[in-house]
Amino acid sequence: MRDYDRRQVLGLMGGAVLLAACSGKGDDAEQTATTTAAADCVLTPSQSEGPFYLDIDKVRRDIREGRPGMPLVVAFKVQQADSCKPLADAAVDIWHCDANGEYSADGATFMRGTQVTDADGNAEFLTVYPGFYQGRTVHIHAKVHLDSRSELTTQVYFDDAVSDAVFATAPYNQRGRRTTRNSDDRIFRNGPQFNVAKDGDGYRGTLTIGVRS
Ligand code: FE
Repeated sequence: MRDYDRRQVLGLMGGAVLLAACSGKGDDAEQTATTTAAADCVLTPSQSEGPFYLDIDKVRRDIREGRPGMPLVVAFKVQQADSCKPLADAAVDIWHCDANGEYSADGATFMRGTQVTDADGNAEFLTVYPGFYQGRTVHIHAKVHLDSRSELTTQVYFDDAVSDAVFATAPYNQRGRRTTRNSDDRIFRNGPQFNVAKDGDGYRGTLTIGVRS
Protein backbone atom coordinates (compact mmCIF):
# COMPACT_ATOMS: atom_id res chain seq x y z
CA MET A 1 0.00 0.00 0.00
CA ARG A 2 1.23 3.50 -0.71
CA ASP A 3 1.14 5.99 2.11
CA TYR A 4 -0.77 8.75 0.41
CA ASP A 5 -4.24 9.04 -0.91
CA ARG A 6 -5.57 9.62 -4.38
CA ARG A 7 -6.17 13.34 -3.93
CA GLN A 8 -2.61 13.90 -2.82
CA VAL A 9 -1.37 12.07 -5.89
CA LEU A 10 -3.56 14.04 -8.23
CA GLY A 11 -2.75 17.31 -6.47
CA LEU A 12 0.86 16.89 -7.57
CA MET A 13 -0.11 16.90 -11.18
CA GLY A 14 -0.45 20.09 -13.16
CA GLY A 15 -2.16 20.91 -16.39
CA ALA A 16 -5.57 20.05 -17.67
CA VAL A 17 -6.05 16.77 -19.43
CA LEU A 18 -9.24 16.25 -21.31
CA LEU A 19 -10.67 12.82 -21.77
CA ALA A 20 -12.39 12.08 -25.00
CA ALA A 21 -15.07 10.12 -23.26
CA CYS A 22 -17.01 12.02 -20.63
CA SER A 23 -18.73 10.10 -17.90
CA GLY A 24 -22.50 9.97 -17.96
CA LYS A 25 -24.78 9.73 -15.00
CA GLY A 26 -27.68 7.88 -16.50
CA ASP A 27 -27.98 4.25 -17.46
CA ASP A 28 -28.05 5.22 -21.08
CA ALA A 29 -24.94 7.36 -21.04
CA GLU A 30 -23.43 8.19 -24.38
CA GLN A 31 -20.52 6.08 -25.34
CA THR A 32 -17.82 6.64 -27.85
CA ALA A 33 -16.96 3.88 -30.20
CA THR A 34 -13.95 1.75 -29.49
CA THR A 35 -11.37 2.60 -32.06
CA THR A 36 -8.10 0.88 -32.69
CA ALA A 37 -5.36 3.14 -33.96
CA ALA A 38 -2.61 0.56 -33.75
CA ALA A 39 -2.11 -2.92 -32.41
CA ASP A 40 -2.65 -2.10 -28.74
CA CYS A 41 -3.94 1.45 -28.97
CA VAL A 42 -7.54 1.70 -27.86
CA LEU A 43 -9.94 4.43 -26.83
CA THR A 44 -11.95 3.03 -23.97
CA PRO A 45 -15.63 3.94 -24.09
CA SER A 46 -17.24 5.54 -21.07
CA GLN A 47 -20.15 3.78 -19.41
CA SER A 48 -22.56 4.93 -16.73
CA GLU A 49 -21.34 5.23 -13.16
CA GLY A 50 -24.43 3.57 -11.72
CA PRO A 51 -25.79 4.21 -8.22
CA PHE A 52 -23.11 2.51 -6.11
CA TYR A 53 -19.98 4.64 -6.42
CA LEU A 54 -18.56 5.86 -3.12
CA ASP A 55 -15.60 8.22 -3.06
CA ILE A 56 -13.85 6.37 -0.24
CA ASP A 57 -10.34 7.18 -1.50
CA LYS A 58 -8.69 4.05 -0.12
CA VAL A 59 -5.43 3.28 -1.88
CA ARG A 60 -4.94 -0.46 -1.52
CA ARG A 61 -4.27 -3.47 -3.72
CA ASP A 62 -6.33 -6.05 -1.82
CA ILE A 63 -9.94 -4.87 -1.62
CA ARG A 64 -11.52 -8.10 -0.34
CA GLU A 65 -11.62 -7.39 3.40
CA GLY A 66 -11.86 -11.13 3.97
CA ARG A 67 -14.94 -11.67 1.82
CA PRO A 68 -15.16 -15.12 0.21
CA GLY A 69 -15.00 -15.82 -3.48
CA MET A 70 -12.83 -16.88 -6.40
CA PRO A 71 -9.55 -14.91 -6.28
CA LEU A 72 -9.31 -12.42 -9.10
CA VAL A 73 -6.40 -10.19 -9.96
CA VAL A 74 -7.56 -7.15 -11.90
CA ALA A 75 -4.72 -5.64 -13.90
CA PHE A 76 -5.13 -2.42 -15.86
CA LYS A 77 -2.72 -0.69 -18.16
CA VAL A 78 -3.57 2.98 -18.66
CA GLN A 79 -2.22 4.64 -21.77
CA GLN A 80 -2.84 7.40 -24.27
CA ALA A 81 -5.38 6.38 -26.83
CA ASP A 82 -3.52 7.78 -29.79
CA SER A 83 0.13 7.04 -29.06
CA CYS A 84 -0.10 4.05 -26.68
CA LYS A 85 2.16 5.98 -24.33
CA PRO A 86 1.78 4.60 -20.78
CA LEU A 87 0.31 7.04 -18.26
CA ALA A 88 1.99 7.03 -14.86
CA ASP A 89 0.39 8.40 -11.67
CA ALA A 90 -3.19 7.98 -12.82
CA ALA A 91 -5.50 6.93 -9.99
CA VAL A 92 -7.76 4.02 -10.81
CA ASP A 93 -10.80 3.30 -8.62
CA ILE A 94 -12.70 0.06 -8.90
CA TRP A 95 -15.88 -1.04 -7.17
CA HIS A 96 -18.05 -4.09 -7.64
CA CYS A 97 -20.47 -6.37 -5.85
CA ASP A 98 -19.25 -9.29 -3.74
CA ALA A 99 -19.82 -12.97 -4.53
CA ASN A 100 -23.34 -12.63 -3.20
CA GLY A 101 -24.19 -9.73 -5.50
CA GLU A 102 -24.06 -7.06 -2.78
CA TYR A 103 -22.27 -3.72 -2.82
CA SER A 104 -20.71 -2.35 0.35
CA ALA A 105 -22.72 0.47 1.91
CA ASP A 106 -23.44 2.11 5.25
CA GLY A 107 -19.79 2.55 6.16
CA ALA A 108 -18.60 -0.79 4.80
CA THR A 109 -15.92 -0.61 2.11
CA PHE A 110 -15.37 -4.12 0.78
CA MET A 111 -14.74 -4.51 -2.94
CA ARG A 112 -13.73 -0.87 -3.32
CA GLY A 113 -10.29 0.63 -3.68
CA THR A 114 -7.82 2.76 -5.60
CA GLN A 115 -4.42 2.06 -7.11
CA VAL A 116 -2.00 4.46 -8.77
CA THR A 117 -0.40 3.52 -12.07
CA ASP A 118 3.34 2.94 -12.12
CA ALA A 119 5.80 4.19 -14.73
CA ASP A 120 4.49 1.61 -17.21
CA GLY A 121 0.86 2.64 -16.65
CA ASN A 122 0.07 -0.51 -14.69
CA ALA A 123 -2.28 -0.72 -11.71
CA GLU A 124 -3.32 -3.98 -10.13
CA PHE A 125 -5.91 -5.12 -7.58
CA LEU A 126 -6.58 -8.35 -5.75
CA THR A 127 -10.27 -9.09 -5.30
CA VAL A 128 -12.80 -11.85 -5.89
CA TYR A 129 -14.70 -12.57 -9.05
CA PRO A 130 -17.87 -10.46 -8.79
CA GLY A 131 -21.19 -12.15 -8.34
CA PHE A 132 -24.30 -10.96 -10.09
CA TYR A 133 -27.34 -8.94 -9.16
CA GLN A 134 -30.79 -8.45 -10.57
CA GLY A 135 -30.93 -7.04 -14.05
CA ARG A 136 -27.20 -6.77 -14.76
CA THR A 137 -24.59 -8.97 -16.32
CA VAL A 138 -21.30 -9.53 -14.47
CA HIS A 139 -19.22 -6.36 -14.33
CA ILE A 140 -16.70 -4.26 -12.44
CA HIS A 141 -16.97 -0.48 -12.32
CA ALA A 142 -13.84 1.57 -12.89
CA LYS A 143 -12.93 5.24 -12.79
CA VAL A 144 -9.61 6.59 -14.02
CA HIS A 145 -8.53 9.98 -12.68
CA LEU A 146 -5.81 11.72 -14.67
CA ASP A 147 -5.96 14.80 -12.49
CA SER A 148 -8.42 16.28 -10.03
CA ARG A 149 -10.88 17.20 -12.79
CA SER A 150 -10.42 14.69 -15.60
CA GLU A 151 -11.79 11.23 -15.29
CA LEU A 152 -13.07 8.34 -17.33
CA THR A 153 -15.86 6.25 -15.85
CA THR A 154 -16.59 2.88 -17.35
CA GLN A 155 -17.69 -0.68 -16.65
CA VAL A 156 -15.70 -3.77 -17.55
CA TYR A 157 -17.21 -7.13 -18.46
CA PHE A 158 -16.31 -10.81 -18.43
CA ASP A 159 -16.68 -13.65 -20.88
CA ASP A 160 -19.97 -15.39 -20.02
CA ALA A 161 -18.34 -18.82 -20.24
CA VAL A 162 -15.81 -17.87 -17.57
CA SER A 163 -18.58 -16.50 -15.35
CA ASP A 164 -20.52 -19.76 -15.80
CA ALA A 165 -17.47 -21.75 -14.66
CA VAL A 166 -16.94 -19.53 -11.62
CA PHE A 167 -20.62 -19.55 -10.66
CA ALA A 168 -20.61 -23.36 -10.60
CA THR A 169 -18.29 -23.14 -7.56
CA ALA A 170 -18.95 -22.13 -3.93
CA PRO A 171 -20.06 -19.69 -2.69
CA TYR A 172 -21.55 -18.55 -6.02
CA ASN A 173 -23.44 -21.81 -6.54
CA GLN A 174 -25.56 -21.25 -3.43
CA ARG A 175 -27.57 -18.69 -5.35
CA GLY A 176 -30.10 -19.21 -8.08
CA ARG A 177 -29.25 -19.13 -11.72
CA ARG A 178 -28.35 -15.74 -13.13
CA THR A 179 -30.78 -14.43 -15.69
CA THR A 180 -28.85 -11.58 -17.29
CA ARG A 181 -25.93 -12.37 -19.58
CA ASN A 182 -23.84 -9.97 -21.63
CA SER A 183 -26.18 -10.06 -24.58
CA ASP A 184 -29.20 -9.28 -22.34
CA ASP A 185 -27.59 -6.35 -20.56
CA ARG A 186 -28.72 -2.93 -21.73
CA ILE A 187 -25.54 -1.16 -20.66
CA PHE A 188 -23.07 -3.76 -21.98
CA ARG A 189 -23.14 -2.83 -25.67
CA ASN A 190 -19.58 -1.99 -26.70
CA GLY A 191 -18.22 -1.91 -23.16
CA PRO A 192 -14.67 -3.05 -22.56
CA GLN A 193 -14.11 -6.68 -21.63
CA PHE A 194 -11.36 -8.24 -19.55
CA ASN A 195 -9.00 -10.71 -21.06
CA VAL A 196 -9.37 -13.43 -18.40
CA ALA A 197 -6.95 -16.29 -17.80
CA LYS A 198 -6.52 -18.87 -15.05
CA ASP A 199 -4.03 -17.70 -12.46
CA GLY A 200 -3.13 -20.07 -9.63
CA ASP A 201 -6.30 -20.82 -7.64
CA GLY A 202 -8.20 -18.09 -9.39
CA TYR A 203 -8.18 -15.82 -12.39
CA ARG A 204 -6.42 -12.78 -13.74
CA GLY A 205 -8.31 -10.21 -15.75
CA THR A 206 -6.31 -7.75 -17.81
CA LEU A 207 -7.43 -4.68 -19.69
CA THR A 208 -5.73 -1.83 -21.50
CA ILE A 209 -7.55 1.44 -20.86
CA GLY A 210 -6.96 4.04 -23.51
CA VAL A 211 -7.69 7.69 -22.73
CA ARG A 212 -7.34 10.70 -24.97
CA SER A 213 -5.47 13.73 -23.70
FE1 FE B 1 -22.85 -2.39 -10.81
